Amino acid sequence: METTLTIIKPDSVAAGNAGKIIAHLEAEGFRVLALRRLHMNEAQAGTFYEVHKARPFYGELVSFMTSGPCIPIALERDNAVKHLRDVMGATNPEDAADGTIRKLYATNIERNAIHGSDSQENAAIETAFFFARVDQLG
Ligand code: GDP
Repeated sequence: METTLTIIKPDSVAAGNAGKIIAHLEAEGFRVLALRRLHMNEAQAGTFYEVHKARPFYGELVSFMTSGPCIPIALERDNAVKHLRDVMGATNPEDAADGTIRKLYATNIERNAIHGSDSQENAAIETAFFFARVDQLG
């Protein structure tokens, strides 16, 4: 079993798509290990996306991620990191395959419905960012 981290982003929460996205993930075999809802402030979102600090869209991304509540979820499944990336779809929904979460629910390259860790190493870092160890042992 492997663990990964998703975030149902503020666009999905505002649109009332959180339940549908969680159901989609469960149907794909993911088990919810830990889940919370929070409205991130600039320091929190800025730190989460620190790896993107040099990119031109960093300010817009932080502004989007602080625009409303989001729902981080620690997920468990065989091959969880890769499978979540597949189910999530390409960053830009115009390039996302049919049936992927971003194809179904994203608005554009920024407001793209969901986050998914891109490696096992980052999954561990990102899960620890949002959840205490005790929450991951449920
Ligand atoms: P991901 O791994 O598919 O989420 O993509 P990245 O790690 O490259 O980017 C992180 C997040 O930044 C994306 O999910 C988008 O929300 C946002 N993003 C990526 N590219 C752009 C862009 O060109 N413009 C804007 N405004 N946001 C972007």
